[in-house]
Amino acid sequence: MAIDFSLSPELEAIRLRVRTFIDSVVKPGEARIHDDKLRETDKTGYIGELLRMRKAARAEGLWLPHMPEEWGGMGLGHVQLAMVQAEAAKSSLGPWVLNCQAPDEGNMHTLAHWGTDEQKEKYLRPLCEGTAWSCFAMTEPEVAGSDPTLIQTTAYQDGDEWVINGHKWFISNARRAGFAILIARTEDNPEIPQAGNTAFIVDLPAQGWNDVREIETMHGGTGHSEIMIEDLRVHQSQMLGGRGQGHLLGQYRLGPARLAHCMRWIAQAETALDMMVDRSLKRYSHGSLLAEKQGIQWLIADSTMELYQAKLMVLHAAYKIDAKSRDESVDFTAEVSMAKHFVANMLNRVIDRSIQVHGALGYSTDTPLAHMYQHARWARFADGADEVHQMRIAQRTIGAYTSDGSTRRATGNLPI
Ligand SMILES: Cc1cc2nc3c(=O)[nH]c(=O)nc-3n(C[C@H](O)[C@H](O)[C@H](O)COP(=O)(O)OP(=O)(O)OC[C@H]3O[C@@H](n4cnc5c(N)ncnc54)[C@H](O)[C@@H]3O)c2cc1C
Repeated sequence: MAIDFSLSPELEAIRLRVRTFIDSVVKPGEARIHDDKLRETDKTGYIGELLRMRKAARAEGLWLPHMPEEWGGMGLGHVQLAMVQAEAAKSSLGPWVLNCQAPDEGNMHTLAHWGTDEQKEKYLRPLCEGTAWSCFAMTEPEVAGSDPTLIQTTAYQDGDEWVINGHKWFISNARRAGFAILIARTEDNPEIPQAGNTAFIVDLPAQGWNDVREIETMHGGTGHSEIMIEDLRVHQSQMLGGRGQGHLLGQYRLGPARLAHCMRWIAQAETALDMMVDRSLKRYSHGSLLAEKQGIQWLIADSTMELYQAKLMVLHAAYKIDAKSRDESVDFTAEVSMAKHFVANMLNRVIDRSIQVHGALGYSTDTPLAHMYQHARWARFADGADEVHQMRIAQRTIGAYTSDGSTRRATGNLPI
């Protein structure tokens, strides 16, 4: 087994090209949008600026880093993707500009794996071209999103159509989306509780897909919609995957999608740590710089060590996802689950410490920290709440000990 953390010259060149592109194109574009308040006052100017950056990314060959070349992507593996995502997310618009943003990114993986040829041409192609957006509709207000076996949205067959009724919320992107991947219950008595749901592709807008509101969150109204679904009809050819495979499809989608979140969160945490150190080198109090005080050094040291752990966990989980494409028997679920839990919590702690070191400035919106903090809180429960990951991690550890007499397999199955 070779363990080598150095990058090939080609990959290093890609990483540097992404960094240069983010610094020279995306960050200035983002600053223009912010300074001129384009989003609030000039929608055409705002969209024009976004599309200009996307066009530039495509021209630079920095487009769809997560997709194979046959779909117009960069054809990177997950380890390589980690480098690109962590550079792209240094700007909040970076992933969108490179067309690797959630939820489209996860939906692209899902369609590429589960879609029929016709579905891929109709839905995946425009996503990859950047001419369409999508959403993923699973969570419901009435039941715990953490347990998809509780889903109450139902679909029943009527001739060659399926009729869907239910209630969804927090559906990101729903108002912009040209289609939704929707999860509904189709099986009354599945062999196992996880086999009750099926995925459907719904063209939007659609009769029966009723947009109730965009939910206001702690970081504002941000495109997460509540949807009432009433007698929505879809043709049977719109089923994605087989009957009862909705849970499997969700799990398949969540592995790479969760890790992609982690890659972007690493970028955010690194920004917060850079800012923490920068501030501590400039702020003077009680006879010395903050950077010279042991209490502040502990905040910096803890953040540094946690970010290092996060990077190693993400790289290892990405390596396992790549390994699965060569050997179907490889299972990356445990590593992705541990990485997702750790990185989400690390992100919250590092931003919190950075705000602390900035004092009142950190609490203001004069720096990006307040905004980053509001966003980061979501990371601890979305795409698997902390406690659910902990439950699964503990189950695997207990299982490994029970069957092997050792917990080693559950701790990354590493050769140490
Ligand atoms: C910004 C944002 C965007 C989102 N985008 C989407 C989207 O595009 N599509 C979509 O379908 N959903 C989306 N969601 C919903 C998200 O996936 C859910 O919030 C998540 O799955 C958790 O479900 P829930 O909110 O119903 O919480 P619940 O399942 O009710 O859980 C609440 C809390 O209960 C605890 N808990 C739950 N189960 C256990 C357990 N077994 N043991 C111990 N504690 C437990 C945890 O602390 C958990 O945080 C989004 C949410 C947010 C905030």
